[in-house]
Amino acid sequence: MPTYEYICLDCQNKFDVRATFEEKEKGLKPECPNCHSKKTAQVFGGFMVMGGSKSGGFSPRSGFMPGCGPTAGPGCC
Ligand SMILES: [Zn+2]
Repeated sequence: MPTYEYICLDCQNKFDVRATFEEKEKGLKPECPNCHSKKTAQVFGGFMVMGGSKSGGFSPRSGFMPGCGPTAGPGCC
């Protein structure tokens, strides 16, 4: 089972989440184990990608994310 690294946007706590690919595809919304916030984002080797919500906060014009196509939207990966 792959492990995904997430960061809490409330307390900046980083934590690992284990989920099957299927669970990930459906949209994983892990809860911060530190403050139980649901405002979490996946970390990709230093880049943060919003986990499927449109709450924003990161540049929508960065255009290219590792592992995603240039037109990839939220939740693509
Ligand atoms: Zn937290």
